[in-house]
Amino acid sequence: METSNHNDPIERIRETGMRVVRLMHEGACRYGLADEATVTLMTDEPFAAWEAEGVLPLREAHLMSPVTPTKVVAVGLNYRPHIEELGLDLPIEPVIFVKPSTSVIGPGVPIEIPPGVGRVDHEAELGVVIGRRTHRASPEEAAENVLGYVCGNDVTAREIQRVDGQWTRAKSFDTFCPLGPWVATDLDPSALLVEAYVNGELRQRANTREMLFHPFDLVSFVSGVMTLVPGDVILTGTPSGVGPIQPGDEVEIRVEGVGSLVNPVVAS
Ligand code: MG
Repeated sequence: METSNHNDPIERIRETGMRVVRLMHEGACRYGLADEATVTLMTDEPFAAWEAEGVLPLREAHLMSPVTPTKVVAVGLNYRPHIEELGLDLPIEPVIFVKPSTSVIGPGVPIEIPPGVGRVDHEAELGVVIGRRTHRASPEEAAENVLGYVCGNDVTAREIQRVDGQWTRAKSFDTFCPLGPWVATDLDPSALLVEAYVNGELRQRANTREMLFHPFDLVSFVSGVMTLVPGDVILTGTPSGVGPIQPGDEVEIRVEGVGSLVNPVVAS
């Protein structure tokens, strides 16, 4: 059936119900569409006029961060118990900050803890991936412009965050923003379990229905501040239970309906 959205690259991906991956293939960085067993390579970015081109087994794919955002906009306080554990008042509007593109890493890539930074914490988060240019969008328009969802880890140098009184340094170290393992495109973000495990032990667990601000409200709010472009990521806040990670640990972020993002921790 011919529709007005027939050639829209985002609509075409949604219709497949597949996940967007980025991978190294024959020495080049490529996008693909993954199901449980295979990756179909794409000729271009998922936001462009892509075509399907070749299939390989998913288990042979070397997955990278599924998108390369120009910016990651993170929400500081969005789950009530986490706000209480930090001893803060409930925010009237979302508290946002930016993690630089250079902090992004993919699945399996080590989180590097620099010398002398003190305690470093994991923060399990649902990440929203933007599929179209978004500027001053309503929540309904924002929902239309979302490509899908990733697992995110808003790694934070907690002592530096307290000392500085603002969050840029604490949140911006290289490797402090693991994203992946892929973008799940056929998902309602309103009631998903978000979990963190360290060395297999459960540390954080909450449901996105406990958020103060819904993901679409967050995209709308951020788009009123800065233009969001395809591949940008909104991290929607972390539940209670944040805790330290150290060299030798393995951190896993799980988001229901998305998957599992695992990163080892090393000293740098
Ligand atoms: Mg966070």
